[in-house]
Amino acid sequence: MENTQRTIYVDNAATTAMCDEAIAAMTPYLKNVYGNPSSLHTAGQVAKEALEEARAKIAAHINADAGEVYFTSGGSEADNQAIRSAAANGLKRGKKHIITTAFEHHAVLHTLKKLAREGFEVTYLDVHENGIVTPEQVKDAIREDTALVTIMFANNEIGTIQPIAEIGKICREKKVVFHTDAVQAVGHVPIDVKAMNIDMLSLSAHKFHGAKGVGALYVRRGVPLNTFIEGGAQEKGRRAGTENIAGIASMAAALDYVCGNMDKTSAHLSKLRDKIINGLSVIPHSKLNGDPNKRLPSILNMCFEGIEGESLLLLLDDKGICASSGSACTSGSLDPSHVLLALGLPHEVAHGSLRISLSEDNTEKDADYIVKSVKEVVEYLRNMSPVWQDLENGKKPHLL
Ligand SMILES: *Cc1c(COP(=O)(O)O)cnc(C)c1O
Repeated sequence: MENTQRTIYVDNAATTAMCDEAIAAMTPYLKNVYGNPSSLHTAGQVAKEALEEARAKIAAHINADAGEVYFTSGGSEADNQAIRSAAANGLKRGKKHIITTAFEHHAVLHTLKKLAREGFEVTYLDVHENGIVTPEQVKDAIREDTALVTIMFANNEIGTIQPIAEIGKICREKKVVFHTDAVQAVGHVPIDVKAMNIDMLSLSAHKFHGAKGVGALYVRRGVPLNTFIEGGAQEKGRRAGTENIAGIASMAAALDYVCGNMDKTSAHLSKLRDKIINGLSVIPHSKLNGDPNKRLPSILNMCFEGIEGESLLLLLDDKGICASSGSACTSGSLDPSHVLLALGLPHEVAHGSLRISLSEDNTEKDADYIVKSVKEVVEYLRNMSPVWQDLENGKKPHLL
């Protein structure tokens, strides 16, 4: 379908557009360089070289060694493999306790739910109203039988950043495996797996301008990693299947691109983000979700009382703005986001959420247009809403 009207895409936490560098890097592997890296002939070995070059590049960006990076089909698979593996290896030594937070991505939460059914005990740490766990909470929750701590680096719905280095230090001291879902953080904020004492880390190319369906799992040397997909000997026998070379090449190129521009992008996005937050905060009975400072430059999430998030999104879409009410996995269902509920927001308020996730393509003009449009739509929806009339007449108390 032709896109006649310019759309303002501010749903980059759901997925990003591929950058030119990533498209250019993947193209040869879609055309001439189609060998299978497991083949011994020249065509295969050329592909194998590309694979290892990409692995080394990706490893360098998080200060890992190339041998510590395993390719996966994306962030979800990396999360599943990391958690399943750490749980199984803990169980071998009688450890059946896992620590996480209440607002992880579903790739983590649903895996843990299954493990709980299989006999693991899961502690869900409170993330408080500001959307941040403290290192002390982690320290207090660790037990003799703790097999794994899995805490996301940055939250995909509200953008808050967790004290990962402090948590990593505690886990290392207590000799507990520490995994972080860093899908929203890689390429957006600096990451050093060694300095931060991270044992396992998940990343996904399509959240930083690479291709969809490709990601990686970093596993520190010495931490056991179980096979997730059985089959051939690819990825040192840990993940069978012919490698997605084109996707992997795009991931390495995209990471080069975003890491090379990180300072500039952060400054630009923080400015736009704060402009939008300031512009929307004047709307009465509204709220910024999550800590105002400890957050990604790219994500902001606000609630507007008396509004249905879905209606807000559809009307913004009519105005050419592609935003979200939370995670792509939550939209389409009428349940409020588990992330917003974890912050302690009442259901009625959590329903009226808007997530704006920016990329370097967004401009000051976009920010102004977004503020103007959201204000108009919120006012329009409130005027039509019986719930809002009740709040305004004092029949019901305002919650925000
Ligand atoms: C997008 C996302 C995932 C899933 O990654 P996919 O590559 O889409 O499977 C996992 N965790 C977080 C925090 C995400 O934002």
